[in-house]
Amino acid sequence: MTAQSPAEGSATTTDVLLIGGGIMSATLGTFLKQLAPDWNIALFERLDRAGLESSDPWNNAGTGHAALCELNYSPAGPDGSVDPAKAIGINEQFQVSRQFWSFLVSQGHISNSFINPLPHMSFVWGDAHADYLRRRYESLSAQPLFRTMEHSEDHSKIAEWAPLIMEGRDAGQRVAASRVAGGTDVDFGNLTRQLVDHLGASGVELNFGHQVLDLTRASDGGWDVRVKNRATGEARTVHTRFVFIGGGGGALPLLQRSGIPEGKGFGGFPVSGQFLRCTDESIISRHNAKVYGQASVGAPPMSVPHLDTRFVEGRRSLLFGPYGGFSPKFLKKGSLLDLPFSVRPGNLVPMLAVAKDNTSLVKYLVTEVLKTREGKTGALQEYYPEGATEGWELITAGQRVQVIKKDPKKGGILQFGTELITSADGTVGALLGASPGASTAPPIMVNLLKRCFPKEFGGWEPKIKEMIPGYGVKLNENENLLEELTNDTNRVLGLDG
Ligand SMILES: Cc1cc2nc3c(=O)[nH]c(=O)nc-3n(C[C@H](O)[C@H](O)[C@H](O)COP(=O)(O)OP(=O)(O)OC[C@H]3O[C@@H](n4cnc5c(N)ncnc54)[C@H](O)[C@@H]3O)c2cc1C
Repeated sequence: MTAQSPAEGSATTTDVLLIGGGIMSATLGTFLKQLAPDWNIALFERLDRAGLESSDPWNNAGTGHAALCELNYSPAGPDGSVDPAKAIGINEQFQVSRQFWSFLVSQGHISNSFINPLPHMSFVWGDAHADYLRRRYESLSAQPLFRTMEHSEDHSKIAEWAPLIMEGRDAGQRVAASRVAGGTDVDFGNLTRQLVDHLGASGVELNFGHQVLDLTRASDGGWDVRVKNRATGEARTVHTRFVFIGGGGGALPLLQRSGIPEGKGFGGFPVSGQFLRCTDESIISRHNAKVYGQASVGAPPMSVPHLDTRFVEGRRSLLFGPYGGFSPKFLKKGSLLDLPFSVRPGNLVPMLAVAKDNTSLVKYLVTEVLKTREGKTGALQEYYPEGATEGWELITAGQRVQVIKKDPKKGGILQFGTELITSADGTVGALLGASPGASTAPPIMVNLLKRCFPKEFGGWEPKIKEMIPGYGVKLNENENLLEELTNDTNRVLGLDG
């Protein structure tokens, strides 16, 4: 443990420095407070509050991603069959998150106000999509993690599940839906702020309104991190043993500044988005599900249209989207120079390769950007045929910075998942990318702990097992434990209603 400098009221040296006050830093800080309570931790966030960028509830879709309804996690193979492996992997990760959050609630560190039970549905139309959805249902429902999945092509059954999507629909249209009643909606902003408040109460030094400008290797192997108070303009350097670059879209430039070889070659492609938010309470109250459809050609997988109920600070709302867009900013409150400044000799080849190979994405984004308000209502009506332009307002979602990375064959590829980057000596970790994102912050952070703190990790395992009782166990292969943990977490998180 290192000493702080109380004379200045803020640390000049610390054990752990967390960059960013989003869900990722908040989760890592929470783990470390449990595992190494005597370590000094300082958090630096450029905005005035935690969780205002991608983790804010209006900036993401609030889906507890467990691959229950998102079709991109269970695509059809070349022969049309559906391999459940990827969906199982995502669901197993979400089980880890549920257990970690339940531990924190049961300890009284946070309340369960951030999570609500909400059915997850996949909904498609037309023969090809309906045939695929049936095959997906047959493949997934054979797995213990997806055993409660229901499926129907019956208009009246689907109308029972989600009336808005069936009212006014052509009675002759072939439609299909799969549904899991036990899905969740997660207010990640609420969760982030609760976690950060708990960190503050546990002695973590919280520095809001502080921008991290640079990080350089110190002579003792740690890091000197340059931070600026945005209100006063005053800059100072904080020395740390370990730094986590949890800046969301702002992580890439800082990773590049660190100069670690593991960060070379990475680039970012920002995709912005908008949602239509319903303002009519009589419509909002008639929908109770997250209904995900199929992505348009070229659309990034997580830009699939969805009509979804959300609970923001406990209040029910209804949103449709996202509509894709383009902005060179890496953060919603970022700079238009973010993208051009991120181009380096080391990532130029991957970035050019991605530009060449992703013309369908560019075409998709151009079409989306040019979509008029009527065009947007047209897209809404595919999911809610009686939806009108009135009664809906457009809101801007968070920025997703999709990861561009080197590829030996293609030169560079665009990746839609999250990428955890750690230095060989374990003194720095960074998180890039968006999906499945916030839902899987706890398993991502366990992975980071394993990679960055190999000496301590063995000693930490009993505590990790206390926080995550199914740690290291594949629940899909252990039905009894799956049932026990599902019941426990449902009860603690208030999901059994
Ligand atoms: C449109 C959209 C929909 C999504 N839907 C879902 C969903 O349904 N379910 C799900 O699980 N995930 C979803 N995600 C992904 C999820 O929102 C993100 O994975 C997650 O919020 C990322 O958390 P983070 O802490 O890495 O980043 P953020 O929440 O963006 O936090 C990063 C923080 O770092 C700060 N920062 C940046 N640079 C600096 C700097 N230099 N100095 C100091 N502070 C800095 C920023 O101000 C910000 O507060 C969605 C994302 C988007 C954009």
